[in-house]
Amino acid sequence: MNTAPRLEINLAKIYHNASELVQRFSQKGISITGVCKATLGSPEIANTLLRAGVCSLADSHIETLESMHRAGVKAQMMLIRSPMLSQVARVVAWADISLNTEIEVIRQLSRAALKADRSHGVILMVELGDRREGIMPDKLLQTVQQTLSLPNIVLRGIGTNLACRHGIAPDMHNMSALSVLTARIEAKFGCKLEMVSGGNSANVDWGLSGVVCGRVNHLRLGESILLGREPLHQRPISGLYTDAFTLVAEVIESNVKPSRPSGTPAMIAAQGDSKRVDRGLVLQSILAMGCQDTDPEGLLAPAGIEVMGASSDHLMVVSERHALALGGEVAFQPDYGALTRAMVSPFVTKVFKRDAILTGGMPMARLAGSLEKSSGLRNTAEHDSFVL
Ligand SMILES: *Cc1c(COP(=O)(O)O)cnc(C)c1O
Repeated sequence: MNTAPRLEINLAKIYHNASELVQRFSQKGISITGVCKATLGSPEIANTLLRAGVCSLADSHIETLESMHRAGVKAQMMLIRSPMLSQVARVVAWADISLNTEIEVIRQLSRAALKADRSHGVILMVELGDRREGIMPDKLLQTVQQTLSLPNIVLRGIGTNLACRHGIAPDMHNMSALSVLTARIEAKFGCKLEMVSGGNSANVDWGLSGVVCGRVNHLRLGESILLGREPLHQRPISGLYTDAFTLVAEVIESNVKPSRPSGTPAMIAAQGDSKRVDRGLVLQSILAMGCQDTDPEGLLAPAGIEVMGASSDHLMVVSERHALALGGEVAFQPDYGALTRAMVSPFVTKVFKRDAILTGGMPMARLAGSLEKSSGLRNTAEHDSFVL
C-alpha cells in the first residue's frame, strides 16, 4: 500500500539530466559540482549525481555534507555558503572546500585546519551585481594576499553567485569580469587559479549559448539537474526531464461547497486569499498535505485541478469537472522551493524509482526535444492509484 503524502523520485531521470549537463559543459571545459541542498543530502541522489560525472557535491549546510559522508558517499565536498564562525571546526572536518567572503572566517578556518592537521580549500566569492554574498572586486586582491599567507589554507580559486537575490543574469559583462579578475590575481601573485566558479543554474543559458566562457571552468548546479529547468525564466532545458520529482497527496474530504466564505473574516488565517472570488458552488477537495510539507504556491497541479489555498496541514483544491474520490491521490509537479520543503518534511515519504534508463535504456523518441511532461492525476496504467 502506498503512503501519502509521498515524493516519488526518479533516479533514472536525475541521472539523465546530470550526465547531459556534465557532457554539454565538459565540451566547454567546464566541470560541474552537484548541489544537493534541495535533497537534504539524500545518498541515493548524491550517488546518482556522482555516477553521472559531477566532480564534487555541494551543500549550504555542513550538517548535510557530514550526513552524506556518514552515509558512505565518497566525493569531494564543497560548502557553498560562507561558514559560520561557530562551525569552523566542523567545516574543516567535513568539507574539502568552502566558498568564502570574510577574511576573519578564513583565518579561523586556518586555525581549525592547523589544529586538525588538515588542509582546507578556499574559493573567494566576488560580488558582481546581485548583491548577495561576495567580496567587492576592489577588495579582492587584498583578500587574496591575506588568504595566501594563511597556513593549512589552499586558495583553490575564485567564484561568483548571481540571480539569487535580484535576479541579475550571468552575461558577457559579469562573466568576463570574473575572467579579468582571475588574470589579475595570477599576474600579481604569480599563481595559477585552479577553479573559476561562474555560478549556479542561472548560468546554464549563458554557458550553453555558444559564448566564449573565458576562464570560467566550473559551475555549481542544483535546480537545472534536479528539475531540468533554468531558474531565470523557468524554461525547460532541452533534452532534460522536468518531472524527475512528483509529489503525491491523498484526498481526505471531497465536497460541494460555496466558494465564498460566510461570516465576518477577522484575519487572513490561510493562504490563497487572493483567489477568493465567488465561483458559486465548487467541487472542493482537501488533501492531507500542507505548508509544513511543501510550498503550496510552488505546485503545478494536473489539468482540471487548481490549488485554492493551504494551511499548515490542509491543501484545498477545486476540480473542474469531477469530484475527487475520497482516498484517491493527486500528483503535483513541485518547483524548487516546493521540492526542498517536501524533502525536509518528515511526513513526506521518499520513494525512489530506478526504472527505465538505468535498467533498460531510454526509448529514443523521448530523447528528442524537450522531455517536459505535464503532471497528472493518477489515472494512467503507469500510475494506477487514482482514477477520476
Ligand atoms: C544554491 C546555490 C547554488 C546552486 O543553485 P541552483 O540554482 O540550484 O543551481 C550554487 N551556488 C550557491 C552559492 C548557492 O547558494
